[in-house]
Amino acid sequence: MISVESALEIVLSRADPIGAEDVSLPDACGRYLAEEVRSDLDLPPFDRAMMDGYAVRASDTAGAPRTLRVTGQVRAGQQPDRALASGEAVQIMTGAPVPPGADAVQQVEKTRALPDGQVEIVEAVEPSQNVAPRGCEARAGDVVLEAGRRVDPAALAVLASAGRARVRVGRRPRVALLVTGDELVDPAERPVGGQIRNSNGPALAAQILEAGAVAEPLGVAPDAEERIAAAVQRGLGADVLVLSGGVSAGAFDLVEAVLAAFGVEVLFERVAIKPGAPLVFGRRGSQLVFGLPGNPVSAQVTFDVFVRAALERLQGSRGTASRPLVDVELLAPFRNRSRRKAYLPARVRADGTRLVATPIRSAGSADVFAHAAANALLVLEADRTEAAAGEHAPAMLLRRFFEGDA
Ligand code: AMP
Ligand code: MG
Repeated sequence: MISVESALEIVLSRADPIGAEDVSLPDACGRYLAEEVRSDLDLPPFDRAMMDGYAVRASDTAGAPRTLRVTGQVRAGQQPDRALASGEAVQIMTGAPVPPGADAVQQVEKTRALPDGQVEIVEAVEPSQNVAPRGCEARAGDVVLEAGRRVDPAALAVLASAGRARVRVGRRPRVALLVTGDELVDPAERPVGGQIRNSNGPALAAQILEAGAVAEPLGVAPDAEERIAAAVQRGLGADVLVLSGGVSAGAFDLVEAVLAAFGVEVLFERVAIKPGAPLVFGRRGSQLVFGLPGNPVSAQVTFDVFVRAALERLQGSRGTASRPLVDVELLAPFRNRSRRKAYLPARVRADGTRLVATPIRSAGSADVFAHAAANALLVLEADRTEAAAGEHAPAMLLRRFFEGDA
C-alpha cells in the first residue's frame, strides 16, 4: 500500500499533455492554453481618459478655480482632431484618447460649464490625473497569459484584448467509463433481492465532464471476465480508461485479471486513503487506466484526488493538480481509525475571517447522502486518529463550496 502523495506523483509523472487544437474564443473557456499568448498592441493603445470631464494641462489648473476655453469634444472611439494649447480645455468622455498637449483630465463633477464656450475648473488636477497612459496595462509583445493557464472569463477578456480570436488549447481527453458489478441495476429500476442502483455511472460520467474531458460510457458489465474484457476491448482507443468496482479482494473482483490479460502495466493497486484503499492505476501504451473502488464515495473521492488531476495534466494544466487545502477550526471532534489518510465529509463555513468545520455523520463509503451534504473533506493524516473540537485541521474544499454551497 503506497501513500496518497506517492500515488499522485506516479499518476502525474505518467500524465503528459495529449495534444492541442485551435478553438475560437467562447469555446476556449474551461480549457488549458497550449501556447503563451502575447499582446499584439500596447494596451491601452492611446492615452485614455478614465473619467468623463475635460482634458487640460494640469499647470493651467494650478490655483483653481480657473476658467479655460473649450475648443472641442472627443468621444470614445474618436481621434482628437487637434492638439490642446495652454488656456484650453477639451470636453472628453471615458475611454476617449486624450488629445496631444493635454496631460490630465478633470472629472466633470469638479467643473462648471460657463456660457460662451468656457468651463470653470473648480479644483486643480495633477499631471497624469485620470489618464491611463498608452501601454500602462500591457505592451505589444508582452506575454499576457502563460501556457498551461486555465481559460476562464477573465482570461477570455485578455485574449480578446490581445487580438486573439482563436487560441491553441489542450485537446479534451476521451475517457471510456466501464462500471462493473452483478448487483447493479439502472436508476430507473427498482432493485430487488441483493440488487442496488448504479450510482457510480452517472456520478463518474459527470466528474469526467467537470474535469473538461469527454465521457464515453461502456455501460455496465457483470462480474464475469469475458464480459468485462469485451467492454474493455471497446474502450482501448480512449485516452483514459476508468473502471468502477471489482478491484478489491473478493472472489469476483476480476478487473485486475482482465487488465493483466490486456497487457496493462499496473503501477499501484492499493493506496493508503480512506475512503478508497483498493485503487488500481496502470498504463497500456499511452492509455492511462484507473480501476476505482466500487463504493460510491470511494469512487468519487479517488476520482477527485487522482483522476481529475491526471485529466487536467493531459489537457496541459501545469497546476499543482491538487485542490488547495485550507486551515479550518473544528466545531466538533473528528475520528480517523483507518490508519490511512482520511478524507472525511464536513461542512465548512466562514465565521468572520475564520473557516469553521462541522463533521457530517456518515454511514461509510457507500453513504452518498453524507458525501452530497458535504462541501469539504477534512483531511486527517494516517497517524492523526482524533481531532478534538477547537483544534485545527486541513480541509479540501469541494467544488460545491465555491458554487454557492458554503
Ligand atoms: P466492489 O468494489 O465491486 O467490491 O464494490 C464495493 C461496493 O460498492 C459494493 O457494496 C458494491 O455493491 C458497491 N458498488 C459497486 N459498484 C457500484 C455502482 N456502480 N453504484 C453503486 N454502488 C456500487
Ligand atoms: Mg463488485
